[in-house]
Amino acid sequence: MATTLIKNGTVVTASDEYRGDVLCDGETIAQIGTKIDVKADTVIDASGRYVIPGGIDVHTHMELPFGGTVSSDDFQTGTIAAAHGGTTTIVDFAVQDRGQPARKAWETWMAKAEGKAAIDYGFHMILREFNDSLAREMKDLVQEGVSSFKLFMAYPGVFMMDDAQIFRAMQRSGEVGATICMHAENGGVIDVLVQQALAGGQTAPKYHALTRPARAEAEATHRAIAIAEIANVPVYIVHLSAAGALDMVTEARDRGVPAYAETCPQYLFLDYTNYEEAGFSGAKYVMSPPLREASMQDQLWRGLKGNDLQLVATDHCPFCMKEKQLGAGDFSKIPNGAPGVETRLALLFDGGVRQGRISLQRWVEICSTAPAKIFGLAGKKGTIAPGADADIVVWDPEHKQTLSARTLHMNCDYNPYEGRVVTGGAETVLSRGRVVVDKGTFTGKPGSGRFLRRAPRSI
Ligand SMILES: [Zn+2]
Repeated sequence: MATTLIKNGTVVTASDEYRGDVLCDGETIAQIGTKIDVKADTVIDASGRYVIPGGIDVHTHMELPFGGTVSSDDFQTGTIAAAHGGTTTIVDFAVQDRGQPARKAWETWMAKAEGKAAIDYGFHMILREFNDSLAREMKDLVQEGVSSFKLFMAYPGVFMMDDAQIFRAMQRSGEVGATICMHAENGGVIDVLVQQALAGGQTAPKYHALTRPARAEAEATHRAIAIAEIANVPVYIVHLSAAGALDMVTEARDRGVPAYAETCPQYLFLDYTNYEEAGFSGAKYVMSPPLREASMQDQLWRGLKGNDLQLVATDHCPFCMKEKQLGAGDFSKIPNGAPGVETRLALLFDGGVRQGRISLQRWVEICSTAPAKIFGLAGKKGTIAPGADADIVVWDPEHKQTLSARTLHMNCDYNPYEGRVVTGGAETVLSRGRVVVDKGTFTGKPGSGRFLRRAPRSI
């Protein structure tokens, strides 16, 4: 087995920061010490660099069919882009079709990733309905390592479940050790607002945001938590964007209720005014939930700092402008989503750590350690420790880069942060002991990523 020695770096975990050497033997971390003197096959000098656990993005949509098109990154381009940005694990979403077994969806998504993924990956399962046969499948899937299920309170007729189905699925998650991830927006109210806007000739991209009010997210977040409380199970809110929704999570957690939530970089760094960019440019930011008023961002940062928000994922779901054009005369037909899997660590380091909003340790925690713990990957992923997978990033805290679709690796012809200068970037990236990015050059192999059987719910 090949050995790799990372020397002279500053090791940063969710709890520590110290000067140390890290020795990888094959796919795992063998030893950590203040000075390790062994002859390794590969030696990486990490002087002046941070040595951190590889990022874990628990919310991506590679090759997702949506709105008559398909997201533009597949498991090859998307995971290579992720690696460039210092992310070494993704958890993507398989989508169950109405009237179809969930297993069929799992097999479909496994086939999409097979031979393509350059980093390790797991799957959540999106359920569009709930019935006895899906209840049985939930148990089987948890045993296969698909231990979380995503439900929707939005998109009536497409994804939305009613409260009765949500309640039953939540009860079942308690029995089988699954985590329920919830898209919390009031889909019924939003659909009426969308129809009314279109009837009034309001078709521009900004109406996507204006028909999805923050209150609709806060209401659904409150309802999701209340239903989970009655079912006596934890609930995890995905892509929380609005201050009012965070209030609901905070209020529940203060009462000792196991409510969890992620936010995404776009809600921390972009805002409603992006929709008012000239022409059809606002379509770049059409995602759900939409970008909010900038005044909400401080509260999200406080939530991250104080652990009412446990982690940051991306909801990476890119569409090129040609696809976005499907909604040129009707904002409701703009495919929802934007690229993000590559820029998460850099944005949070630059805008979080360097701006003094979160500590270096908290950055590692929200990007890697907490996702591993919440989604059944702890022990293997999410930290630097003997025995853990050697998923390691050598991070250059002084590296300056200008974010641009031209130089980033995501398969998308625009970037929502185009022109933004960030300091800090992944220099060398190891996935299970193999160098997959070497000073900005991809050296990995599509297909070398492995499916991760995640443990049952631990939260
Ligand atoms: Zn999503």
